[in-house]
Amino acid sequence: MSVGFEHVKRVYKIFVDFDGTITKQDIGEQLFLQFGETEKAEAIIKRISARELTSVEGWKALFEILNPVSINELTNFVRSFEIDEAFHRLVLFSQEHQVEMIILSDGFEFYIKTILERENIAGIRIFSNRLIENGTGKPQPVFPYRDEECKDCANCKRNHVVENSGDDEFTIYIGNGSSDVCPAQYCDFIFAKDSLRKFCEKEKVTFFPYDNFNDVVSKLETLFAKKRLKKRHQAELKRKNLYKLG
Ligand SMILES: [Mg+2]
Repeated sequence: MSVGFEHVKRVYKIFVDFDGTITKQDIGEQLFLQFGETEKAEAIIKRISARELTSVEGWKALFEILNPVSINELTNFVRSFEIDEAFHRLVLFSQEHQVEMIILSDGFEFYIKTILERENIAGIRIFSNRLIENGTGKPQPVFPYRDEECKDCANCKRNHVVENSGDDEFTIYIGNGSSDVCPAQYCDFIFAKDSLRKFCEKEKVTFFPYDNFNDVVSKLETLFAKKRLKKRHQAELKRKNLYKLG
């Protein structure tokens, strides 16, 4: 890249996970512990964590042990969950810097929207799984964003990252769990906690550890102020390999 283009405005994009990242707890799991048979739900969640079940298999198993309940009842329960309060700072920061933020979740849209509405946060695009009511007495999951080749996740976050960012843009990923491991590797700056952090440490993927969004915003302020910013080479390679596969 030519030095003469340094003055061109940098474009950033922020991809952020929802459960356990924006919210303190995993709402997806809590729904089934509350409205399903708790012991069975616990056993299924363990198997998902141990990767004995794919995400779609896991969700389907959880919906099987769900007692009759409406999306309305689920929504009321969801309203009791807290978010990381500093997420508001990130929302403001991204608005001030005109950076688009996109939520990528292997959970469900109805509870993400419920929480964002409660917090008066608008204008963030969401890619996630969905629920429908089809007259069976309990909601059913639908997975509009599965990848044809990879069955690990119900919602392929990697595809959203790649489809929603150009090669010249600086991509930022913030996450905490197993569904973040793959998409984060396609991004230039990774903010990681919990199992995503463990993966980055083990595989020597460059990342910033964080506890809450205050840490993220502080680091982003430093990065955005830098005269020169380098894209992460391994992320560029990952993207190139993906394009080759078509
Ligand atoms: Mg998560």
